[in-house]
Amino acid sequence: MSNRTGIDILRDPFLNKGTTFTAKERDTLKLRGLLPPRVHSTEEQMGRVLSNLRGKATNLERYVFLNGLLGRNVDLFYRLALENIEEIMPLIYTPTVGKACQEYGSIFRRPNGLYISLEDAGHIEEILQNWPHKDVRVIVVTDGERILGLGDLGSNGMGIPVGKLSLYTACAGIHPSQTLPITIDVGTENPKLLADPLYLGLQQHRVRGEAYDALIAEFMKAAQKVFPNILIQFEDFANQNAFRLLEHYQDKACTFNDDIQGTASVALAGLYSALRVTGGKMEEQRLLFFGAGEAGTGIAELAVEAMVKDGVPEAKALARCWFIDSKGLVTKGRPGLAGHKLRFAVDHAPLSGNLEIVEALKPTAIIGVSGQPNTFTKEILKKMAEYNARPIVFALSNPTSQAECTAEQAYVETDGKAVFASGSPFDPVTFKGQTFVPGQGNNAYIFPGVGLGVVAVKSRRVNSTMFLTAAKTLAQLVSEEDLAKGRIYPSLKMIRKVSLAIAVAVAEVAYAQGLADEKRPADLSAFIQAKMYQP
Ligand code: NAD
Repeated sequence: MSNRTGIDILRDPFLNKGTTFTAKERDTLKLRGLLPPRVHSTEEQMGRVLSNLRGKATNLERYVFLNGLLGRNVDLFYRLALENIEEIMPLIYTPTVGKACQEYGSIFRRPNGLYISLEDAGHIEEILQNWPHKDVRVIVVTDGERILGLGDLGSNGMGIPVGKLSLYTACAGIHPSQTLPITIDVGTENPKLLADPLYLGLQQHRVRGEAYDALIAEFMKAAQKVFPNILIQFEDFANQNAFRLLEHYQDKACTFNDDIQGTASVALAGLYSALRVTGGKMEEQRLLFFGAGEAGTGIAELAVEAMVKDGVPEAKALARCWFIDSKGLVTKGRPGLAGHKLRFAVDHAPLSGNLEIVEALKPTAIIGVSGQPNTFTKEILKKMAEYNARPIVFALSNPTSQAECTAEQAYVETDGKAVFASGSPFDPVTFKGQTFVPGQGNNAYIFPGVGLGVVAVKSRRVNSTMFLTAAKTLAQLVSEEDLAKGRIYPSLKMIRKVSLAIAVAVAEVAYAQGLADEKRPADLSAFIQAKMYQP
């Protein structure tokens, strides 16, 4: 502990232990009288916090409460999160974080990350140096333009990097002082925020083009200078910037885009597990994506890479993936197709009705990443069950309100045949006497472990081989018992074990590809495990 004493300790969330300071500590640290006399055990303290948490009326209030706790007592927050991960994760991340971002202006208490706005151009290095922690290893950055499936929330998007980084700590043990949430504020196109007197960001239309690119370039350069070996995760950028920035920076910095690459990895892991249930092979699948954005094309790209590595010709692998976007089937003839969709455009007459498209392809799997609720209609689900003994149905859009169908709809309309996963959590469903536990294709299975591996061995890059390896590692951790219940991801209770296994696999890739700056330890797993923060 530092040489600080008294109120300074209680005010520092990294040092404060609240009512669990022992009598001896209270004497030595000059805390006597600053705390109520009763000394609590950690269990008693956790019990009190948990009962306060559960007593709140809404999840948004729980979110605010947990944020307050993080601001007071970091260890307690993470211990609570880790020991109650299934209950806490939906409160600190999706779906609650979506609501929190929408209400950020009114629930704001303290800035939990750094804000960089257009007005800071030319000063980003100084701003990064203002951050109190100097050994930062992971940054999550957003510009708030595509928050979950909720659209442009401008600087209120801060909830996303804050939430994602708390998952790095809870799930993979990256020390909280080594994480830095950043929001880059270039304005917003959200009319509500532009008119809201409580909005906390720049109240102007988004700046695009050269000024935007220059701000990002300055940020990337400054971040790598101020924090050597930094891993930079891009999060919830709109797709016209996300693809472009990824392509530009992925070979120049240790960076990845979680919406594209993390999602791809977790969805591919889900497909591998689902194939253990359906008995199919990846190259035999007909994948129909609802949504041709970052998530959809990211998943398809990684699936194609996996098939190609298994010896399937690329053209054949690409033809296994069909896309529906807001204009209907993505076909070759369509004018003005965005670059990320071009590779997947199929040689087919235009079709716009989703049911018609399902009938034309007869997919083995439908993957919902459109942000549009109710797109997996009753008719589509019934067709899926007609074409497949075990149809794969992934309704991945977040938050829960945007999911393409609910777990219940998936099981009921397919007569219990669906192998289902969602982006936000759904409760188990009992149908015809059988209880199905829906899998949650949560990116938190992937990015914390990938990040831990990268940071631990000081990898200079993060690449698709690492995400493919992570997907395979995750799928292998799903047990037969999980599959029997319909769950194609392991229980979140195993998350630390999952993250460690992924970190080791990713670190192996970094060594194999000559990307790691850390000398190879004799026991890689023990080396990485020793770096994990235990609250
Ligand atoms: P995006 O904006 O890049 O792409 C959205 C796509 O949906 C676009 O191609 C758009 O044309 C298409 N679309 C819009 N309306 C449609 C409709 N009615 N039918 C079919 N397609 C339509 O967004 P994204 O990053 O790809 O994210 C999409 C959704 O996936 C979001 O809700 C996000 O929360 C979710 N997501 C889930 C996970 C996960 O479960 N692990 C991970 C990432 C993203």
